[in-house]
Amino acid sequence: MYLTAMSSAENPTEKTLAELRVRTPESVTSLFAELREKANKEQRRIEKAEQFEQFRVKWVGRKSGILTQVTDNWLKPADAGLKRIVGQALNEFRNHLQSLVEQARQDLDARATQVADTRERVDLSLPGVIRPIGSHHLIRQVFQEIEDIFFSIGFSVVEGPEIETPYYNFEALNIPEFHPVRDDMDTFYIDLPKGAPVPLLLRTHTSPMQIRTMEKQKPPVRVIVPGKVYRRDNPDATHSFMFHQVEGLAVDTDITFCDFTGTIEYFVKQFFGPSVKTRFRPSYFPFTEPSVEFDASCSFCGGTGTAAAGGTCSKCKGAAWIELFGAGMVDPAVYGFVNYDAKKVSGFAFGIGIDRLAMLKYGIDDIQVFFQNDVRFLRQFP
Ligand SMILES: [Zn+2]
Repeated sequence: MYLTAMSSAENPTEKTLAELRVRTPESVTSLFAELREKANKEQRRIEKAEQFEQFRVKWVGRKSGILTQVTDNWLKPADAGLKRIVGQALNEFRNHLQSLVEQARQDLDARATQVADTRERVDLSLPGVIRPIGSHHLIRQVFQEIEDIFFSIGFSVVEGPEIETPYYNFEALNIPEFHPVRDDMDTFYIDLPKGAPVPLLLRTHTSPMQIRTMEKQKPPVRVIVPGKVYRRDNPDATHSFMFHQVEGLAVDTDITFCDFTGTIEYFVKQFFGPSVKTRFRPSYFPFTEPSVEFDASCSFCGGTGTAAAGGTCSKCKGAAWIELFGAGMVDPAVYGFVNYDAKKVSGFAFGIGIDRLAMLKYGIDDIQVFFQNDVRFLRQFP
C-alpha cells in the first residue's frame, strides 16, 4: 500500500508516515530504500556544476531539503513504536546522501581535469602551427646591399656612438663653433648635470667616425660607417628627426679624384643597375674639398624627365636627374685633427642617406612608412 501511496504522491516526504499509511518496520525500510534509489538515480545524472548544486540543495539543503523533510515529517511525528527504526534508517540515509554528494563532487572535479587534459593534449597527427617568419626591415636590407657592394671593393665596416661630443660631430670635421653650417645641423643636446666636462649631442651625421677611425688607424683607411643620425627636422614625406646614413672614407698615399669618382660610380651602378647614368655637381661641405653632389639619372622616367603616361615625371620633376648624396675629397684641414700628414695622404669621403636611397630604389614616396611598422608595408619587402 505504501508503494501506491508513494508513487501517487509527488513528494511522499511532505506527508507523515501515518498519512502514507506506513505502519511496520519493514515498510519503513522499504520506504527509505525507495528514497535512496531515487537519490542514486538523480546523482548519476549529474554532469555539470549547476546540476550538482541543485541535487545538493534538493536532498541535503538545510531549509527544505528532503533530509530535513524526512526528519520533520517522518521522524518527529512517528508513533513511538516506529520512532527507533525510523531514526536508525534516517541516520543511514543521511550518511548515504553525504557520500552521494561527496562522490558527485569528486566526479565533477575529475571530469573537469579530464576536459582540461584533452584540451591540452598534443595531437601529433595534426598539421603543425605555421608561425609567420619575419624578415629584415627594408632599411636593414638596403644597409646590407650597400655593405656587400663596398665589401667587394675592399672596404670594411665600423660603427660608432650615436651620442657624440661637439668636437667629433663638428670641430674635428672642420666645422668651428660659429660656422653657419651648424645652423642646418643644430641638433639634440643631452641634458647633463651641471659641471659636466663636455656637452653631448645626438650625432647629426656618421662623419664623426671618420675622425675616430683616423685617430686609431694609420693609412690606408677604407671604411664605411652605417648608423642612425639625428636632426631637428619636423617629420614630413622626406624628413624625419632620425634617419640612416652610411659614411664612407678612403685615405691613402695615392688616392686621386679619379679613384673617388670611379668608386662612387661603381657603387651607384651596382646598387641601381648598370643602365643608370651619373653626374657630379660642385657643392660645398666643410670637411671635403672639392665637394660634389652626386646625381643619378631618374630611374622612374629612365632619365627622360617625362612620365610614362606623358607629362612631367613627378619624381625628378622633369629634371631627368635625382640628387643622391654628397661627397668629396677629404679637406686637408681635417688631417690636421688626426695627425695625418696632409702633404702625403689624400682621400675621399661620402655620406649616403639610406632612407633616401631605399625610397628611390623601391619607389617609396613617404619616409614615414619606414618607421610606422605597418606590416602591410613591411611584407612587401620579404
Ligand atoms: Zn624622372
